[in-house]
Amino acid sequence: MSPREIFLRALVRLPTPRPAVGSATSIVTCDLMDRAGVWFPDAHRDARQMADLAAAGAEVLGFDNVMPLFSVLHESAALGCDVDWGRRDNMPQCRRPPWRLGDAVTVPDGLLDHPACRVALEAIALMRRRFDGRVAVVGKVFGPWTLGYHLFGVEPFLIGTLDAPDAVRRAMDAIKEVTVRFARAQIDAGADALTLGDHATRDLCSPQAYRDFLMPIHAELAERIGCPLILHICGDTSDRIEMIRRTGVACFHYDSKVDDAAARRLAGGRMSLMGGMSNLRVIRGGDEAAVRADVAAKRAAGIDIIGPECAVPLDAPYRNMRLLAEAVKGEA
Ligand SMILES: [Zn+2]
Repeated sequence: MSPREIFLRALVRLPTPRPAVGSATSIVTCDLMDRAGVWFPDAHRDARQMADLAAAGAEVLGFDNVMPLFSVLHESAALGCDVDWGRRDNMPQCRRPPWRLGDAVTVPDGLLDHPACRVALEAIALMRRRFDGRVAVVGKVFGPWTLGYHLFGVEPFLIGTLDAPDAVRRAMDAIKEVTVRFARAQIDAGADALTLGDHATRDLCSPQAYRDFLMPIHAELAERIGCPLILHICGDTSDRIEMIRRTGVACFHYDSKVDDAAARRLAGGRMSLMGGMSNLRVIRGGDEAAVRADVAAKRAAGIDIIGPECAVPLDAPYRNMRLLAEAVKGEA
C-alpha cells in the first residue's frame, strides 16, 4: 500500500497495515527550512517554494501526506486582512481586521484570483504532479469561526456572540461560502483531503456556543465540500468531540490536552483521529525514547493518523518528527 493509500484509508478508518503518519497543520521548523533551502516568508508567497518546503514533510520527515498552507491567513488576506507575512523565524500575523461586526459581508468575485489564494492552489497542483499519487496531498481552509477572529478581531467577534448573536450568525453564514469556495478550488487543484481549521477552543467557545453557532455549519461544510475533512481545533475539546463526530467530518485532529484513550472513546467507531502528540513536551522537548513511547501509546489507543497536535513550533528539531515517522512505520 502506498503512503497515500494508507493515509486516505486511515482517514476513513478502513483497514491499513500500519497507522498513518502525518499532519493537518504546519510541520515547518527553522532547521527543516535550512534543510529544504526554502524559508519563510517566501514559502507563504511563492508557489514553487511553498511546494518545495511542504514536500520536505514526505521527503525529509517520511510523513504519508504533505500540506502546504503553513499559515492561517491566506483567505483572510484575500478578504482584505492587512497581513504581516513575518520573517524566517515567526508566523504571519494579521495587523488589522478589515471589517466591523454588523457591516454587510461581501465576498469579492475574484477571491480565488488573489495572490494569497492562488499561491496555495498552485502549490497543491505542483505537489500533485511531483508525488504522482504516492503521497496524500492535503489542503487547508478555515471555518467561519476562525475567519471571524481574523476579519472582525477576536474580541469584537467573541463579544458579538453574546450581545449580537444574530449579526454573528449572519456574518458566519456569509463567510462560510469563502470556506466552501476555497475548499472546492483546492480539490480541483489536486487536494485529496482538507484540513478545516476552526479554532473553537474551550476557553474561547463554550460547548453551548459550539452547539448553537458551529455544529450545524461544520455539518453543512462536511456535506457540501466533496472530500474528507479533517477538523482541527486546539486545546481540550473533550466536551465537544461527541458533537464533532455528529457533524459527519471524516477526521478530528486533536490536541494532547485530550487523553488518547478518551479521544478514541468520544470519537466513536466512524470518525478517525489524527495528531495528539504534544508539540512542547515530545516534539520540541522530547528525546528519542519519549517519541517512541508516545507513538506506542497512540498505537495502543487506536489513533488512526499519528503526528503533531497542531502547528509545530518553529524552534523544534525536525529530527523528532522523522523519528516519529520511523516509529510509526516500524523502521529502525
Ligand atoms: Zn491548533
